[in-house]
Amino acid sequence: MSVTDSQRYLSTRGSSYGLSFEDVVLKGLAPDGGLFIPEAIPQLPEGWETKWRNYSFQELAFEIMALYVSPSEIPPEDMKDIINRSYSTFRSPDITPLVTLDESKQLHLLELFCGPTFAFKDVALQFLGNLFEYFLVRRNKGKTGKDRHQLVVIGATSGDTGSAAIYGLRGKQDASVFILHPKGKVSPIQEAQMTTVLDPNVHNLSVEGSFDDCQDMVKAMFGDPEMNKVYHLAAVNSINWARILAQMTYYVHSYFSLIKSPTYTQGKPVRFVVPSGNFGDILAGWFAKQMGLPAERLVIATNENDILDRFWRTGHYTKKAPQTDATDTQPGSVKATLSPAMDILVSSNFERLLWFLAFKIHGGDDDITKKRQRAGDIVWGWLDDLKSKGGFSVEPAVLEAAKQDLESERVSDSQTIDTIRDTYSTCYPPAPASSGTRGRSGGYILDPHSAVGVAASRRSIDRNPGTYHISLSTAHPAKFAHAVDLALSGQEGYHFDDVLPPEFVGLESKERRVIEVPAGEGWNAVRKIVDANVAV
Ligand SMILES: *Cc1c(COP(=O)(O)O)cnc(C)c1O
Repeated sequence: MSVTDSQRYLSTRGSSYGLSFEDVVLKGLAPDGGLFIPEAIPQLPEGWETKWRNYSFQELAFEIMALYVSPSEIPPEDMKDIINRSYSTFRSPDITPLVTLDESKQLHLLELFCGPTFAFKDVALQFLGNLFEYFLVRRNKGKTGKDRHQLVVIGATSGDTGSAAIYGLRGKQDASVFILHPKGKVSPIQEAQMTTVLDPNVHNLSVEGSFDDCQDMVKAMFGDPEMNKVYHLAAVNSINWARILAQMTYYVHSYFSLIKSPTYTQGKPVRFVVPSGNFGDILAGWFAKQMGLPAERLVIATNENDILDRFWRTGHYTKKAPQTDATDTQPGSVKATLSPAMDILVSSNFERLLWFLAFKIHGGDDDITKKRQRAGDIVWGWLDDLKSKGGFSVEPAVLEAAKQDLESERVSDSQTIDTIRDTYSTCYPPAPASSGTRGRSGGYILDPHSAVGVAASRRSIDRNPGTYHISLSTAHPAKFAHAVDLALSGQEGYHFDDVLPPEFVGLESKERRVIEVPAGEGWNAVRKIVDANVAV
């Protein structure tokens, strides 16, 4: 069976080519510090719009993944089985249902939070967990004891990634997962979600310190030669290519849900609006658009941590805007907002887009190998400037190319609160697909991340009347009680308990297993915990 270009992978910084899907999934990050991307972007096959129209989410996932993973690596029947198991844990038969939020404006909300941890990261991490297990079982066939390939997954979390990773990996053979969270600094529900998972291969580390401290420890371990000699370390953050791949499905699936709905007028343009942090979610949409999905534009919605929005307005990608107002936190640091899962200083997946932009604009007429090498060199230079000078600027042609597919909006905390409140009092969509998204009045309750998206959608609608909008909803409101209460307490028919899904009731009083890491211990303390829990 022949392997196509889109089923082989390279590093955005130019040192690795021709890698298999299994390589890039297990490695996570390239040895040169770059991210893995396919050597070419595949096109949706001839007649896809007719043929795939009535496919289920799982069937679409299979068709899309087949374009990026050779059947010689994962036979079709195995891939189907991995996909089916990954989405059997979702509460909605649609997996990612589309809700009409405002019919008069053709604003539709894509509910991505129907997985086990109630956030969109489940769509990718349920799949990634099963994929890890599949590769491990295959490698370990007939092997015993020390010969078995043991995967050690280490990650830091400010909430959502950790719980989604834990639920994706719990009980998986030959894989152990260590998740570091800053003690007392994740929401009570998120903490309970993580620490009440009692599977022996799941280890929660409660670190006395900040999220950055947790992340520094994780980085130190990934960078330690000794640690890498002893363990096969794997990453679950959004730099893992399998996460981007898994997220493409819902763009195609929701496109079909929309055009099949009676409210859709044939031929009208469709836009997607995506609450963004590390640029993983929207990058999947960008791939879908390059593959031929007829999305007129993708809109990046940022909170006040707005590096992406500033790039789209100026072509400068810098950690901090030149002028910061006096009330802001210190320059170069992350601002804590009401949408914490989008609180970032730089967006790690942006590097993947940069490579394709550099390839397009600076490729020239050279042969493909030279063009790729040049793109890698350019990206390397930009990222080096980001590290050493705190930012870089791109040429106008590169910015123009970025604007062809993407535009951006920045949404403040107060606009987020206003949007939750306005949506609650004006949007009464038809019967709920998921519990806990309607008040007693029937008004729709957005979580703060999804509200950033809806606020950006409203602006895009005002500028583009007659366009259909699909706004991505990335978390269930019960996960972010603080912001939802801020917006809705005192509103008619609103009681927080109504928002609580049955899965969350009593969660906080369940048995927990957690390992404390005292302040000032450094990553060696974490290393000892890994040593004590993984047999090599
Ligand atoms: C992770 C996350 C985001 C941001 O997604 P990116 O892929 O990092 O851009 C938005 N909302 C929620 C609730 C999240 O958990």
